[in-house]
Amino acid sequence: MGMDLNNLDVIVIGAGFSGILAVYKLRRLGFRVCGFERQGGLGGVWRENAYPGAAVDSPFPFYQFYDADLLRDWRWEEQFPTRAEMMRYFEQVDTKWGISASFEFGASVSGAEYSEATWRWVVSLEDGRRASAQWLIPAVGFSSVLNIPRIPGIDRFSGPVYHTARWPRDAMDMRGKKVAVIGTGPSGVQVIQSVGKVAKSMTIYQRTPCLTLPKYSNSPDRTAETLGMGPDGYREALRLGLQSPNGFDYVCRDQNTLMVPSEERDHFYRKRYLEGGWAFWMAGFRDLCRDPRANRDAYAFWAEQTRARISCTTKRELLIPEVPALPFGVKRPCLEEDLYEVMDQPQLDIIDISEKPIEIITETGICAHGKTIEFDAIILATGFGDEASGLKSLNIRGRNGTPLVEAWSGGVQSHLGIAIHQFPNMFFLYGPQCPTLLVNSPAVITVQVEWLCRVLSSSQRGARVSQLEATGKSHDVWRRKMGELWMNSLYHTHPRNASKQEQTW
Ligand code: NAP
Repeated sequence: MGMDLNNLDVIVIGAGFSGILAVYKLRRLGFRVCGFERQGGLGGVWRENAYPGAAVDSPFPFYQFYDADLLRDWRWEEQFPTRAEMMRYFEQVDTKWGISASFEFGASVSGAEYSEATWRWVVSLEDGRRASAQWLIPAVGFSSVLNIPRIPGIDRFSGPVYHTARWPRDAMDMRGKKVAVIGTGPSGVQVIQSVGKVAKSMTIYQRTPCLTLPKYSNSPDRTAETLGMGPDGYREALRLGLQSPNGFDYVCRDQNTLMVPSEERDHFYRKRYLEGGWAFWMAGFRDLCRDPRANRDAYAFWAEQTRARISCTTKRELLIPEVPALPFGVKRPCLEEDLYEVMDQPQLDIIDISEKPIEIITETGICAHGKTIEFDAIILATGFGDEASGLKSLNIRGRNGTPLVEAWSGGVQSHLGIAIHQFPNMFFLYGPQCPTLLVNSPAVITVQVEWLCRVLSSSQRGARVSQLEATGKSHDVWRRKMGELWMNSLYHTHPRNASKQEQTW
């Protein structure tokens, strides 16, 4: 590539949405920027997240870069683009922006240390090279570290064990195979819908039943046609998305649920439910995720719609219990097409591991509740480490050589989920303490990168700032602000959210 790695202004780590946008925008501002990416090309999580059925779950037109040039020349084929379409999109981005020229691919960062002597970051790569720059932008998101369940014997299984986010190109063809799936989050739902139609049999090990919403609209108001797949039809939606708290153009109903008569409520729920996507969740009543009674009311409507789609009573009770395992919407619901019809097939079985986890994995199968079932392949749809795990894995050291893992040993501390005291000239993107999982990611990333560009370009002008660092006090202010929002909602009642809070706050 021919870039002088010791004469850089900015180093960006990661070539997903946030890394690509940061490199592009900062380069346009005249900064000498180099990005390092572990994988062989652009796309971040989408590159290896290649499991059958992988697709975007943000409805069109919100999951893309908000750039006039790209918007003009790109036509999305799908309302919810598949992973293959996403990869074609990244190729188009590269053609337009020539962004690969500013990245080193196959370049794994093994550490980054701030030098108090030079006021620069020194980044080490696994291949032994080093690079230095005034500014360091880790853009590794929340999904670079996998959650691999520690099940005894998991390494002994003789067939393939695939994690959805590291799906190999030469993965086994699942047609006619006996398949186990562990995990029923959004990736699990997508893989079950896809593989569950072709496998000989499938056994799903379920810890928490997923809460879902229909992916596609059944309403004439919000179809691909009425939305208009061309850019002219959706510029306004994107503008609204950047200003809304959820990154979409959804607006919640400014009324508390139980203030509305039940018949009208039912009518409203139905309308939102039929719209598909996140409408039922993000454009529902304003107290859905604040008041437990409102939440149960919405759950009751959802449960009634969904139960009607399952004939097997045992599966119905496992998938849609009378009392929900967690409030509706405190975890992003999974978008589904025909999940319940697929699950209802006789060759699909669900094993509840909420009380008793899987005991052991043997060479040929999985043993739970004292019963071993043999499989040809095991799919782990178990997601990622906590939102700070990607950043922590980079071996970053700030002032006085302080490791980030040590600075965060009592929980994540940051200003605005972007800057950290004792880590000058470093701004992380799309990580902990910013709105990640519950909002539309390109919108958050756009806002963060715009902020970053303003800060870095103003620091180059006038007084020419050499060191810029969050104060320790700003951590407390931000933490308090988030704590208030958190405790005034039902989010803290989700057991995994609560433990995540301990890990990431
Ligand atoms: P996830 O939402 O974290 O779900 C992981 C699943 O695995 C959960 O059902 C979890 O159960 C289960 N699990 C975890 N550890 C387990 C263990 N030790 N034993 C048994 N079960 C275990 O992961 P994901 O589905 O990969 O989704 C990750 C993120 O990516 C989400 O934010 C999602 O929205 C996003 N995503 C986005 C798209 C997209 O198109 N944009 C597509 C897929 C995923 P518990 O619920 O009990 O913890």
